[in-house]
Amino acid sequence: MFLWLVVIVFVTYIVCLKCIYYRHRRHLKHGLNAFTSLESPGADIECLVVTAHPDDECMFFGPTIIRLVECNVNVHLLCLSEGNYYNHGAKRKQELFNSCAKLGIPSSRITILDHKNLPDYPKAEWRVSLVTSIIAKHLRAHIFNMVLTFDGRGVSGHSNHVAIYKAVRHLASTDQVPNDCRLLSLVTVSLLRKYVSFLELPLSWLLPSSLSCIIGSEGYRQCKAAMLCHRTQLVWFRYLYIIFSRYMFVNTFQMIPHGPKVNKMY
Ligand SMILES: [Zn+2]
Repeated sequence: MFLWLVVIVFVTYIVCLKCIYYRHRRHLKHGLNAFTSLESPGADIECLVVTAHPDDECMFFGPTIIRLVECNVNVHLLCLSEGNYYNHGAKRKQELFNSCAKLGIPSSRITILDHKNLPDYPKAEWRVSLVTSIIAKHLRAHIFNMVLTFDGRGVSGHSNHVAIYKAVRHLASTDQVPNDCRLLSLVTVSLLRKYVSFLELPLSWLLPSSLSCIIGSEGYRQCKAAMLCHRTQLVWFRYLYIIFSRYMFVNTFQMIPHGPKVNKMY
C-alpha cells in the first residue's frame, strides 16, 4: 500500500513538472515581446549576458541562453576574464567558444576580455568602477533590449560575480542604460534549493520573478554538452553539479530597476 502511495505521488509530481514545462514553452515568446516592448515576435530582441569566467555561461545561465536562442533572440556574451586562475587562459578561451557553439551563441557575438586588473581570483576584488566603465563602453557600442547578469550574491558567492552585479546596478542607478533596455539579475537560491535538481522546478515556478527559463530533457542534454566543453574544469564535483544543480534546468531573474536607489526612510 505504502509503495503504491509513493508511486502515485511520484507520477503526479512528474506530470506536474511536465505541465509547468509545456506552459512555460507556450508563453515565453509572447512574454519576451511584452517584456522588451517589441512588437515583432522575438526576432529583433538583442540580449547581452555578462559573466565573469569561461563556464559561467553554461554553469549558471545555460537554461536561459538555450531558451532565448530557441525563441530567436540574438544572444551575446560579454565574459570579463579568460579564467586564468590555473594559467589555462588560452585553453579556457577556446573552451568558452566551444561551449557557446553548443548553446547557440555564434563566435561573432562573444567578447572575452583579458584585463590585468580583472584577474580570475576569488580573493582579488574587482574594482567596481573599472567593471562599470567596461560594461558601459560595451553597452554604448551596441543596442541591447535586455542585459542579464548575476545578482548581489553571485549564485556561488564569487566576488567577481558580485562585482559585475554592483557595476550593472550602478549603471542602472545613474541612468547610463537606455530606459527600454531591461536589466535582470539571476536569482541566487539557498543551498538546499540549489542541489535538488529539477525537483526544485515547481518552487521556482510559483515564487514571483520577472523572468523564468526552463529547459526539458533535450535542453538539458545541450547544457550538459556545453559544460563538458570546459575540459580543464572537469573535476569530480563538476559531474555532481551537472546532475544535481537546479541551474542546469531552471533560471529565475529579478528586474534591476532603473534610476537612483530608494533608501528606506524608516
Ligand atoms: Zn564564475
